[in-house]
Amino acid sequence: MPNRKIFIGAAWPYANGPLHLGHIAGCLLPADIFARYCRMMGYDTLFVSGSDMHGTPIMVTAEKEGLTPEEVAERNHASILKTISSLGIAYDLYTKTHTQHHFDVVRDIFLSLMEKGYIETRSEESPYCPSCARFMADRYLEGTCPHCGYEEARGDQCDNCGRVLDAKELLAPRCKICGSEPEFRLTEHFYLLLSRLEDRVRDFVEGSMHRWRPNTRNNTLNFMRDGLKDRAITRDLTWGVPIPVEGYEDKRIYVWFEAVCGYLSASKLYSRNAGKEDLWQSHWKDPDCRHYYFLAKDNIPFHTIIWPSILLGLGGLNLPYDVPSNEYLQWDGAQFSKSRSHGATVNGFLEDYPVDPLRFYLSVNMPERGDSNFDMDEFIQKNNTELLGAFGNYLHRVLSFAATNFGEVPERGELSKRDADFLDTIREFYERALGSMEKVRLKEGIHTMMAAVHEANRYFN
Ligand SMILES: [Zn+2]
Ligand SMILES: [Zn+2]
Repeated sequence: MPNRKIFIGAAWPYANGPLHLGHIAGCLLPADIFARYCRMMGYDTLFVSGSDMHGTPIMVTAEKEGLTPEEVAERNHASILKTISSLGIAYDLYTKTHTQHHFDVVRDIFLSLMEKGYIETRSEESPYCPSCARFMADRYLEGTCPHCGYEEARGDQCDNCGRVLDAKELLAPRCKICGSEPEFRLTEHFYLLLSRLEDRVRDFVEGSMHRWRPNTRNNTLNFMRDGLKDRAITRDLTWGVPIPVEGYEDKRIYVWFEAVCGYLSASKLYSRNAGKEDLWQSHWKDPDCRHYYFLAKDNIPFHTIIWPSILLGLGGLNLPYDVPSNEYLQWDGAQFSKSRSHGATVNGFLEDYPVDPLRFYLSVNMPERGDSNFDMDEFIQKNNTELLGAFGNYLHRVLSFAATNFGEVPERGELSKRDADFLDTIREFYERALGSMEKVRLKEGIHTMMAAVHEANRYFN
């Protein structure tokens, strides 16, 4: 399979806090393993990501801490960069959404979709806090989810049941900052006309989902079940990507829309940095280039519906080929995001343990097809028995045997039947592992490789 081209995007970490182990197991590590695999196979691979710097959660944090949103986002971006470098996640480019370059790319996408009739302005009634004197975009509005009864649902989404919400659906709505009840006032926003793109999105989903994992498929079909609704892609905010149309200086483009555009803007930035302005086109316009997006399950519709809608609206750009989404890794049975444990953040964990045992344990214990649990005892035991006891020990035995008996790597001798059978067995394992990796079944791949290691130890005995 020479000359194959692969684009890999890992979901953009949100710069409202440090990375925890759940983020790593959810998408950064699987994307990195797959990228390393593709490069080893000689595929022409481009692997990009960056920090998602905008949105109301960062603004709420900034307000609480008496900082600017930029200060909060930059602080977390620096922490994320440190984690990525300590973990050896080998991106071709890791950037962020708060750059002039990203603004320019989003502006071009926005204007192009507007020109093609996929974006238009509409007036809508939006929640407004009279005592804070501002519109309450997304995180600024809290209330009870009408679907599951969760009391801290946000204006745009329920973190408990994952449903996308309309601000007007929330029960007992209140201002996140001052607790006041909102009133609804008329404001003008830009809408992405998903209804006009729906047929093509549906064709794309139906033609692709045989490759997707069950959670990607189910989540996508759920989102599409009642048809695609046109969605507001701007907000009454001052932090974010500016709207490239005169008269909207006090509004910004919503993160749902602009963060996914980061895959394209990062690819273009990579090209520019490499001194070849058009390099990105070989990955985005060659229909044979396969695009893989790695993410955790809460992010699926943005990559299987919203981003493909934008790409279909623009035309001439590659759509996602596979969208491997992981379930959640739990920390002693609880969600990482809610854990305040020092060890749950990656930077904290790596102060106490080296990186390879962590990568190994997260790889064999990846939440690929169901939630998995990070268990400290198991972390230590798996490393001692598997990585060290089986793999490390095998290498040590082979090398010290060769050193003691030959002083060098000896010439190949006559193969006995047992030797030849062993080689055949190892080749079978190798082929099977490659098959798993090609289908992004990473856990299956590493288990096959470890089975080969055990076989090799038995042979050496
Ligand atoms: Zn809910
Ligand atoms: Zn308020």
